[in-house]
Amino acid sequence: MTGQALQASDRPLVDQHDVALLDLDGVVYVGADAVPEVPRIIGTAAEAGMRFGYVTNNASRTPHEVGEHLRRLGIPALDNEVITSSQAASRVLASRLPPGSSVLIVGTAALAAEVENAGLRAVWAAAERPVGVVQGYHPELSSSMLAEACVAVRAGAFWVATNADSTLPSPRGPLPGNGSFVQVVARTTGATPVVAGKPEPAMHTECVLRTGARRPLVVGDRLDTDIEGARRAHVPSLLVLTGVARAADLLAAPPGQRPTYLAADLGGILAPQPGIERSDGLAQCENWLVRERSGSLQLTWAGDGDGSDAVHASDQAAVDCAALRAIAVLAWDVGTTQTVAGDQAARGALTRLELAAG
Ligand SMILES: [Mg+2]
Repeated sequence: MTGQALQASDRPLVDQHDVALLDLDGVVYVGADAVPEVPRIIGTAAEAGMRFGYVTNNASRTPHEVGEHLRRLGIPALDNEVITSSQAASRVLASRLPPGSSVLIVGTAALAAEVENAGLRAVWAAAERPVGVVQGYHPELSSSMLAEACVAVRAGAFWVATNADSTLPSPRGPLPGNGSFVQVVARTTGATPVVAGKPEPAMHTECVLRTGARRPLVVGDRLDTDIEGARRAHVPSLLVLTGVARAADLLAAPPGQRPTYLAADLGGILAPQPGIERSDGLAQCENWLVRERSGSLQLTWAGDGDGSDAVHASDQAAVDCAALRAIAVLAWDVGTTQTVAGDQAARGALTRLELAAG
């Protein structure tokens, strides 16, 4: 059930999955603020019986701090529903090292707390002869902290990175993320860490263990972490377009990063997923038809009239997503992402999807 990308679902996703594992930044919030409508959507899905895991690769905040952030936004999250890469990394360490082993912390007090929760001893200097090193994001990471890590890793300590994201989004554009600092230690020592965070399987294992999910749905905004992580764990995924991934990224996605489902935003969990009709050089989703025409993909409105339904739809974003579904499956098939509009309605949709030529 997870192999094929962009599947149909006759029933709303909320009826098919017991737990939604939500990525946070770009799905639930952007920066400090909630994505519009998300608190209401989570409330509605919870009333229908869905449970949630709030999943983040960021290791610098405790589950309580993340939980407080979510509650400030009006989302009734419990601290024990927050799952961080610090927890996944600590479980990896505890599975490999005897209880009480010393682990050097390169990161925040939040990371140290999770290491201690896992029955290990957090230390801050290589002189304490740690048998493990855990490295996570610290907003004021210093060169001397990296030096401690290099000494301990070179002495043979088991090295785990909470995550390998090379950048961190910021209002000023991408800034160095944990993965970039991990590279400093790797280049200095010649060693390679075990990585716990998405898309690595340790993170998904942590989510399932902590939520008890039987039929989880992974919801994310990034193809290379959220969606790839779900595929590697053989779990269905929903890509939302409220964060990093744009329509053009979906068209260019390699097979290992193609989502099971697609929606404009988290509201997609409350709805069915429309099917896509396929035939040679042709794809149709709802009222949109896509044809291969001399190396490009031509989108046209196949519904009644001139497509003014599409232009004035009450749920414009869902109508546009139907167009994107049809374009994506054909793009993956024929290996082109070049898209052209066949009529006025298509021009509007491609412009909103940022796929219009030029
Ligand atoms: Mg995200």
